[in-house]
Amino acid sequence: ATLPYDDDNIFAKILRGEIPCDKVHEDEHTLAFRDINPQAPTHILVIPKGRYVSWADFSARAQDAEITGFVRAVGTIARQAGLVETGYRLLANTGGDAHQEVPHLHVHIFAGTNLGPMLA
Ligand code: 5GP
Repeated sequence: ATLPYDDDNIFAKILRGEIPCDKVHEDEHTLAFRDINPQAPTHILVIPKGRYVSWADFSARAQDAEITGFVRAVGTIARQAGLVETGYRLLANTGGDAHQEVPHLHVHIFAGTNLGPMLA
């Protein structure tokens, strides 16, 4: 079961402009900004503008146009950041076992170094 959406979460505040962010991309459905505590030389967070708690919530409830827009935006952001040649990793922590900290869907983009094997 997914929790109800909390309009006081930090990414909701960023979307409303109440908290600043280092923006790298914005379009109709999507906002992307640099992680405040980067875990790789490039660490970008990509979020949908809609009120979705997690990947589970988004994939179940979002309109097709939101899903298409969001998925294309993740690809566009990585391409425009020059990451396609060297590679990048996408991660969407979902729920407790994955240690999701912010209850607004976000996809992490990690790049800029050899990231090693998953879950290392
Ligand atoms: P999670 O563990 O939920 O997948 O990741 C949450 C991410 O959000 C963390 O990497 C954390 O550094 C980042 N984060 C938390 N608060 C802020 C903030 O206020 N601004 C930015 N840019 N990133 C944040």
